[in-house]
Amino acid sequence: MTSRLTSKLFVDEVRKTPSMTVHELMTKVTEELNVDFSLKQGYRTLRKVRDTIQGSHDKQYTMLESFCGELRRANPGSTAFVETDVDEDGVSRFRRLYMCLEPIKRGFLAGCRKWIGLDGCFLKGPYGGQLLSAVGMDGDNKMFPLAMSVVGAVRDKLPQVEHRCCVQHLYTNFKQMHRSLVLKDRLWRCARALYMTQFKAEMEMMKQESNNAYAWLDEKDLNTWSMAHFKTGLDCDLLRMEKNRETMSKHEGLLCPAIFDILEKAKKEQCMCICYYADTMKYQICCPFGDQFVVDLRSMTCTCRKWQLGGIPCGHAVAAIYRRRDKPEKNVAPICWKTTYMKSYEPVLNPINGPNL
Ligand SMILES: [Zn+2]
Repeated sequence: MTSRLTSKLFVDEVRKTPSMTVHELMTKVTEELNVDFSLKQGYRTLRKVRDTIQGSHDKQYTMLESFCGELRRANPGSTAFVETDVDEDGVSRFRRLYMCLEPIKRGFLAGCRKWIGLDGCFLKGPYGGQLLSAVGMDGDNKMFPLAMSVVGAVRDKLPQVEHRCCVQHLYTNFKQMHRSLVLKDRLWRCARALYMTQFKAEMEMMKQESNNAYAWLDEKDLNTWSMAHFKTGLDCDLLRMEKNRETMSKHEGLLCPAIFDILEKAKKEQCMCICYYADTMKYQICCPFGDQFVVDLRSMTCTCRKWQLGGIPCGHAVAAIYRRRDKPEKNVAPICWKTTYMKSYEPVLNPINGPNL
């Protein structure tokens, strides 16, 4: 068995696990081919495999331009381009790539919430770089891939848009200085607080637990991580993004499955509420532990803010809806209906040809 032949057989393995060591490769070769392999052969094979992969990366970069062209041809209306810089020696160097396909844009506009999440990661390939992706959220609170790119300072480019950061990212930074399970729990409670008094109470508890952690958190822009500070009307609840797209196809009924579950929970919670009639569409809701909220069925709001943030009636709202002998399902925002969800996935992505055509 030569290292040349072995390197051909294991290219895909190493591509999938770029950090593979010589010893790991040798174990794989021995297990799968049942042959003895010296350490020297191992090193030689791994080097050859890496050269092949590196070479294919080079080749792929040269094909990006035509790949984008093919995407635009197959899906007219798509934005797909690659930008290059020419250096002093006249060599073209990759600068950035952006891709957003027309059927995806259409699906997003037809059925997703008015919210875009941005995420980024560093690329591990031989050229490094940073991959940024934009995702939307469909009617069932699931991620909807929207666009991918390599971009610079996002914040400077979109000053007028409300920016939210993922609390998980905030926590990753937070825990480097404030490491304790209690503080972690406190942070999430602060982030999840939906209205101002609840938020202030949670922040006060954080302060009592640790002055330093409180001060650290207080410095951050509240509009980016605290739900109590999020604008309503986006019909979007950032923190609940569980996935189960499979269930959708089997699911029958007006609402998407995850939305259905949230509403069922609210139906259970309403048992603990006492509902006082204020006018035909307004109710005062009294809850255990002295909490009190106002539900306005006309504007579809509750002072706990859950309804206007996510588009799904909260327990308080359900109590008021039942009092009016109405159905909670009918009071869910259309963005959460199965029909709206289906519109997001209706546009068809056209297949594209390979590089040899
Ligand atoms: Zn409420």
